[in-house]
Amino acid sequence: MIYTGSCYCKEITFQGVIDSPDNARTSLCHCNNCKKFFGGPYGTTTKFPSSGFRITSSTQPIVHEADNGSGVLLHREFCGKCGGPILEYGANAKGTSVYVMWGAWDEKGRKEMPPKGEFFTRLREEWLVPIAGLFQKKEIKE
Ligand SMILES: [Zn+2]
Ligand SMILES: [Zn+2]
Repeated sequence: MIYTGSCYCKEITFQGVIDSPDNARTSLCHCNNCKKFFGGPYGTTTKFPSSGFRITSSTQPIVHEADNGSGVLLHREFCGKCGGPILEYGANAKGTSVYVMWGAWDEKGRKEMPPKGEFFTRLREEWLVPIAGLFQKKEIKE
């Protein structure tokens, strides 16, 4: 399968190639770090093999790297023109997986890679309810 995506202004475009969308994993994350970066009640990303992912535009994303607050170096990429987020990964996933901002996929990717679970549910906003059918993790492992 080939999935395409872009930032909000389309200056950055990308492509993800994968045998089956079952091999990707979209999840919600309620951690405080995701709330800040996404500007919403949670972040939504698709864990995708980095070998199948590439930026297809000549313009490359801006890179931001920082400690995520619990000792993990978090790498994030976003558009320098519109600020739209593209992907992130922790130092431990480098070279293995990228976590693509789910909303940046074009319609086909969003439709075929829906969320499978929720992380950091202990930090879920009290006005949100768990999404039925998704696995629930209090933090990362449990
Ligand atoms: Zn942009
Ligand atoms: Zn998070």
